[in-house]
Amino acid sequence: MAADLSRRTFLKATATATAATYASRVLPAWAADGRGAVAVTPPLATFPYSDVELLDGPMKRQFEENHARFLNLDDDRLLKVFRQVAGLPAPGEDMGGWYDLTGFSLTGNDFHGFIAGHTFGQYVSGLARAYAVTGSEATRAKVHRLVRGYSETLDAKAKFFDDYRLPAYTYDKLSCGLIDACEFAQAPLAMDTHEKLTRAMVAYLPEKALSRAEQRSRPHKDTSYTWDESYTLPENLFLAYQRSGKAFYREMAKRYLEDDTYFGPLSQGNNVLPFEHAYSHVNAFSSAMQAYITLGSEMHLRAATNAFHMLETTQSFATGGWGPDEAFGEPGRGQLGDSLASTHASFETPCGAYGHFKITRYLLRVTRDSHYGDSMERVLYNTILGAWPIQADGTSFYYSDYATTGKKGWHRDKWPCCSGTFPQLAADYHISAYLRAADGVYVNLFAPSVVRWNDGGGKYSLTQQTKYPFENKVQIQVSGTRAAEYTIYLRIPAWSGSEPMLSVNGKRVSGPVNPGTFAAVRRTWKDGDRVELELSMPLRLEPVDDNHPRLVALMRGPLVLFAIANSQPAFDGAELLRSQLSNNAAGDLIANSVEATPVSMRPFMSIDKESYSTYVQLKS
Ligand SMILES: [Zn+2]
Repeated sequence: MAADLSRRTFLKATATATAATYASRVLPAWAADGRGAVAVTPPLATFPYSDVELLDGPMKRQFEENHARFLNLDDDRLLKVFRQVAGLPAPGEDMGGWYDLTGFSLTGNDFHGFIAGHTFGQYVSGLARAYAVTGSEATRAKVHRLVRGYSETLDAKAKFFDDYRLPAYTYDKLSCGLIDACEFAQAPLAMDTHEKLTRAMVAYLPEKALSRAEQRSRPHKDTSYTWDESYTLPENLFLAYQRSGKAFYREMAKRYLEDDTYFGPLSQGNNVLPFEHAYSHVNAFSSAMQAYITLGSEMHLRAATNAFHMLETTQSFATGGWGPDEAFGEPGRGQLGDSLASTHASFETPCGAYGHFKITRYLLRVTRDSHYGDSMERVLYNTILGAWPIQADGTSFYYSDYATTGKKGWHRDKWPCCSGTFPQLAADYHISAYLRAADGVYVNLFAPSVVRWNDGGGKYSLTQQTKYPFENKVQIQVSGTRAAEYTIYLRIPAWSGSEPMLSVNGKRVSGPVNPGTFAAVRRTWKDGDRVELELSMPLRLEPVDDNHPRLVALMRGPLVLFAIANSQPAFDGAELLRSQLSNNAAGDLIANSVEATPVSMRPFMSIDKESYSTYVQLKS
């Protein structure tokens, strides 16, 4: 590896079996089409899925559970609703839940057949990404079969969407699945099918992105449910443009940017989040980021950056989750604290975490600000890693419950939205742990894992071993077929106590190691070099909001510690901060309540059926 690790050689160096598709991202043809768009190359890029391997731990387990669940789901069942509408033979059992064609009635509080086939594209996407990670031939073949099977049901007018309740919602997910099937699993029919579908969808979509207020003001023949999510379309349309080079995708993406009522005000610092639907409006932030990357639109970068700040400072719980009852509230009114007494639907977990990972990854790539990695890991450890796995019949984990006294539970309906985002997110753990720069590698998540790349005929890797966040030490083993100069950047979380210890081969590094930054270690790395990071994890208390200063969550490092109890316990604040680590496998701390009762304080990942309080009362 050359001593000077130029961007070009580094990017070329990461070439692997998937590099042919990846190269188009490095020097994209669409970026120089001379039609006024000035694309931006963010300073950080994701590694290909295949370059990162998760080692034993909860992230790997979730990825494998999701991969197996959808690999083993019968093709005929997945394709049934599309075949039924197309008048083709439609063997196989009904999927059940939201996925089927008939039976929906809001009045009967029955969501059976809510949005037929809505998650098909997400299951294809999750499988395509899983193939990119594992190279599993059975997975690749399944993606190809599903794309072919779906394409056989698609006519030039996409009549599946006649009288369909939420056309933009389901189209967006099909769009993502077909793009991923092409990009990661090389499904030959995927992009032609995508274009045929997209051209037909124009007849079913509004002329522009509609806010919910605009949708409510328009008469709709289906009065039972009139919300659709046209404002989330641009991200995948921009990706389709990048994949195909076809300008009609780019022009269509521009049309569905919700600039007038959302991104415009957000870019000016005007907080228009209140009362909007939470997940889909966070998902829309990623459309703003694609507008920045594809068109060079600074306004959209400002909108996304401001909106994310508003999300964190006015809508978020200590866990990193947001949007009780799937809605944003008005800042300054104590809505988060009030929600603890009024709802168990505190955070739409798989969907919310998926959207949160996407926007933090985009913002991290563009800004290199470690704060976005801190936010990502908060959501990782306190929400999604504690979600129960999707069951064979489609029974799914949906809401995290932060009520005064809460419990984990299954969602009422089978195959809900959250069964679509979960397999996508679990695959995305691979592209979230490390990022690559012109001059080296960013270590963003601390997790047992390996990242591998090639450069100039040399092969290199970093292997992380850690029990983080249950322990505070991270070890990284450097491997390389030859010595090479590059920089390893390590995220030093903002919560970490003073003087994090960072050493190479047992010797403390001389450069700055400041909480809230990436610490940079540049040297000529040799095979067998060892990097060690030791973070102090002081206990701290976070109030739920300014109006409820005595309702607090106990935190250690990135972890919220939930009080295991049948009713909300009360503590003396100083006593709570004296909680002692226990030696049990759950990672509990033990705190004495005001009644001098020892209470187990447990991470969400370690909670199963027991009742808990996310927030406890402070008596003094
Ligand atoms: Zn969901």
